[in-house]
Amino acid sequence: MGKGKIIGRIREFIKAELNELSREAILLRSGIVLAVSVLVAVAFVLYSVLNPKFEMPKTAALRAENSRWKTRMEMLGYKLDQCEEMLQAVEDRNNWVYREMFGLGAVNDPVPVTEIKYIARYGENLDPDLLETLVRIDNLSARVVSQSKALDQSALFARRVEALATSIPSIPPVLPRKGSYHISSFFGSREDPVYGGRSFHRGIDISAKSGTPVYATGEGTVTIAERQRSGYGNMVMIDHGYGYKTRYAHLKDIAVERGQHVRRGDLVGRVGRTGKATGPHLHYEVSQKGRQVNPMNFMDFSMSIEDYREILSAHRTEK
Ligand SMILES: [Zn+2]
Repeated sequence: MGKGKIIGRIREFIKAELNELSREAILLRSGIVLAVSVLVAVAFVLYSVLNPKFEMPKTAALRAENSRWKTRMEMLGYKLDQCEEMLQAVEDRNNWVYREMFGLGAVNDPVPVTEIKYIARYGENLDPDLLETLVRIDNLSARVVSQSKALDQSALFARRVEALATSIPSIPPVLPRKGSYHISSFFGSREDPVYGGRSFHRGIDISAKSGTPVYATGEGTVTIAERQRSGYGNMVMIDHGYGYKTRYAHLKDIAVERGQHVRRGDLVGRVGRTGKATGPHLHYEVSQKGRQVNPMNFMDFSMSIEDYREILSAHRTEK
């Protein structure tokens, strides 16, 4: 074999080797590219999963939903604030106005509800905001129930007080004469005008012209309407309930019957001088639980004649 031929074969060999090398190099390069690509992809996925700031579309949706729930919880909390304020106002008014007025003590606050039952039912992992809201709603409900009962009680007392106010004798039984009343004889121990000597005057004598209208001084039922020649003469007695009774004596005539229901300002008769009387006047008595009391304490003399007439006309138009 000649020298040139050997060199030629070596060249060919090297060329072939080079070709081989370059093919491997290409393969290797491609492999590296692929590996890097895979690595990048893996890193991307890891980054996505591990980085809390990165948001996949699904995470973004959940996040938006979460934000909406948070807003809803805040609105609920705000509404609860308002409810608590309103309830507080009702509680204060009931406790410090109504119950105070009727001599009832303030309502005791219900025993506060705690989160224990929720923790027992749902475990410790319950969202703290949700837990707080649940407890607030429970406490609010307990207070509403308690106040509702207390308000019923106040309403009952208000009706009693109103009934008491309309029933208890509280106006003079006749209209004033020329703007004033002439009391000819007061309540208590006095010289007897007819028989002489000390005697106890069980009422007051209001002097008035014969025929002057006499009015019921409070709502009640007529228990006596009788005509007599002696003593009280023509006399009416009204039972006002609550232990109160009034008596109207020496009447010229009687306008009511026994058992009749009368209201304050209703006509019961007219001033006269029947029975033991020296002149026309109204003998008026008030008793409380069977005990005679001074009728002067049961008349609002500060009331003007217009106020008095207003009461009378109001009662007439109501009928
Ligand atoms: Zn008298």
